[in-house]
Amino acid sequence: MDLFEHQAKELFAEYGIPVPRGVVAHTVDEARAAAEELTGRVVVKAQVKTGGRGKAGGVKLASDAPDAEQKATEILGMDIKGHTVHKVLVEEASAIAEEYYFSFLLDRANRTFLAICSAAGGMDIEEVAHTAPDKVAKVPVSPLTGVDREHAREIAKAGGLPEAALDGAADLIEKLWAVFVDEDATLVEVNPMILTADGEVKALDGKVTLDDNAGFRQAEHEGYADKAAEDPLEARAKEKDLNYVKLDGSVGIIGNGAGLVMSTLDVVAYAGEQFGGQKPANFLDIGGGASAEVMANGLEIVLSDPSVKSVFVNVFGGITACDAVANGIVSAFKLLDERGETVTHPLVVRLDGNNATLGRQILSDAALSGVELVDTMDDAAKRAAELAAVGA
Ligand code: GDP
Ligand code: MN
Repeated sequence: MDLFEHQAKELFAEYGIPVPRGVVAHTVDEARAAAEELTGRVVVKAQVKTGGRGKAGGVKLASDAPDAEQKATEILGMDIKGHTVHKVLVEEASAIAEEYYFSFLLDRANRTFLAICSAAGGMDIEEVAHTAPDKVAKVPVSPLTGVDREHAREIAKAGGLPEAALDGAADLIEKLWAVFVDEDATLVEVNPMILTADGEVKALDGKVTLDDNAGFRQAEHEGYADKAAEDPLEARAKEKDLNYVKLDGSVGIIGNGAGLVMSTLDVVAYAGEQFGGQKPANFLDIGGGASAEVMANGLEIVLSDPSVKSVFVNVFGGITACDAVANGIVSAFKLLDERGETVTHPLVVRLDGNNATLGRQILSDAALSGVELVDTMDDAAKRAAELAAVGA
């Protein structure tokens, strides 16, 4: 999960990282009031989860409260790379002497953490990294030893920061490492990290990506969720503890095991080419123990997606055998009937693995309307795509 700049800065402040004073505003009036409270020159900043706001005109200096109101009028409602601006951060303006770049990130390719630091920060860091890579220091960080003050200073030095900024930067970097580790982040980025006219080092911008997989031990992270931006189906699936990702095709997918579901997506997309480009409508992994209720919840979510025209249930029986899954499907149909959500779309089912024969027997005996049994994954994918094309 990515945080908004203002959330990142609130988090930074909790760790004692210097950030400018600021207030979030959702309306022009709130922006004016915020500027009055802060007094003096302020900067009005679009809060959207994308970079390059400055270049897009989403970051504007204002000389006083009426000017802040004017700047907020221009920024609120703006579209930045497909993100509509619903709120702004009004901050006391900083007197910038220099702008640096700093980040910690998870370097998956090298299986380590990485610190990136450069004296050439600000809005054009990507350009610098491309044209003058020697100006951007990349320092691997061991998760075992982490970053202490001394190490932080070395990183700042490697990035080419001047003597005057080293102590302040080291302090900020050390604290940023604490944020990175304690909050289970996969990215913390400060661009620009600034040196002010009076020699202070501050985080002027903040980007934080939290690792959702650590949600179980980071209860307060839930408060950062952006309910308005969430896909309503994904939100409902989350409530039901389902591993669901909405995609934009027409073939609903239900499978057991993430690997199987992912390969099902590929096979369906490939088969769909023959039928006018039918594609998977979602990813849904019902996991190992597919009870009737889990199957019913899964079917309900997938079928309530209006773009779904057919459903492919792809199950490889393991510890949960195919007969249990078949019984789950039969009960799911009954459950959905009772909930008034009778299944009306065709369902292609492929059962293989543990107790496949018994599972198929159960399904054919139940003679559920619209359910077809197909033996192989390829043929089932093809049939599901074909049915989706017919239903479209
Ligand atoms: P981004 O473009 O989305 O990365 O937004 P930033 O928060 O990084 O702001 C972009 C640029 O606006 C910064 O690099 C600064 O040059 C400028 N800026 C932001 N806040 C201030 C401020 O308080 N004072 C001054 N003078 N410039 C600022
Ligand atoms: Mn920035």
